[in-house]
Amino acid sequence: MVSLTGRKVLRVHRGYAYAPDDVLSAIVRFVDPDSRRSVQLSAEKALLAYPVEEFVSVARRTRGGRRPAPRREDLPFLRELKRRHQELNVRHFGGGLAGIAFRISWKMRTRLGELLLDRRTEQPQEISISRRHLLRDGWDEVEGTLLHEMIHQWQAESGHSVDHGKLFRDKAREVGVPARAVRIVGSRQARRPLRRRRV
Ligand SMILES: [Zn+2]
Repeated sequence: MVSLTGRKVLRVHRGYAYAPDDVLSAIVRFVDPDSRRSVQLSAEKALLAYPVEEFVSVARRTRGGRRPAPRREDLPFLRELKRRHQELNVRHFGGGLAGIAFRISWKMRTRLGELLLDRRTEQPQEISISRRHLLRDGWDEVEGTLLHEMIHQWQAESGHSVDHGKLFRDKAREVGVPARAVRIVGSRQARRPLRRRRV
């Protein structure tokens, strides 16, 4: 996960690229030769508690498939999405939503965001947010898009059908987002891959 080579090069698992600041500072305490043993042990515990594999499975999937690994300049966006997802999960969903992978889409032009569902299991796989949307509209707007996709995630994880029906509209009203589909009106819809459904 984390190691220091003999030439003092710090090697960290690539999944830590998504880790929040407290985990990153635990890495620093862990490898600092001046840290007390007890400090190192608690730092080790903190960095091992971070679900690094969650992000590796995404990276592995992308290497074999058609999706590219995240770009360096998108990492701050990915971190902020993860942070807001955690916060909104607690505020609006009782903390019941699972952690989910995020992707910043450079190609998404007709939509602002989407949730990918496995067609077979109907379980959420990933939330994508349009990079254009992030750069153009800022976080207040993007948070609305994120919440829209989180309502779909909640529908899927609680066994409801994933759509924009009454359940969706009621929940959207409750959490304070417009119940519109997250799509830029008037544009052509993105091409759909075969095995995933996008909502
Ligand atoms: Zn939707």
